[in-house]
Amino acid sequence: MKSWSCIENCGACCRFDLADREDLSGVLSSKDIALINSMTGNDGWCKNFNKSNRKCMIYESRPHFCRVNEFSKEFKGYLKRGDKFLIDCCTQHISFIYGRKSKQMKTFKKSVSNK
Ligand code: SF4
Ligand code: SF4
Repeated sequence: MKSWSCIENCGACCRFDLADREDLSGVLSSKDIALINSMTGNDGWCKNFNKSNRKCMIYESRPHFCRVNEFSKEFKGYLKRGDKFLIDCCTQHISFIYGRKSKQMKTFKKSVSNK
């Protein structure tokens, strides 16, 4: 069975456009939305994302909605489909940000392949 894992040097989920994220309505509080808006730069990337090394600069203290292992439990899709749901989410993010044939997509597919 495939199991989800995050990969290094990605951050595809660190670019926000809440207008495109209807899936988040109902799972984010108004406080969360205000925090996301304050964290989001003009280019859509989180201001805490270091684009040079593709790492979160506040990783240890990142907000709860950035902690996939915890936040995923808020989604019905995760409760129903488990890691397959997370794999689909990451695949969409990576495809949108880096492309279907990107290095990040290859690395991600390899990391979640049947072990
Ligand atoms: S899109 Fe997925 S693999 Fe990439 S940083 Fe986010 S959680 Fe990790
Ligand atoms: S706080 Fe860190 S993990 Fe969360 S979106 Fe920003 S860069 Fe990504």
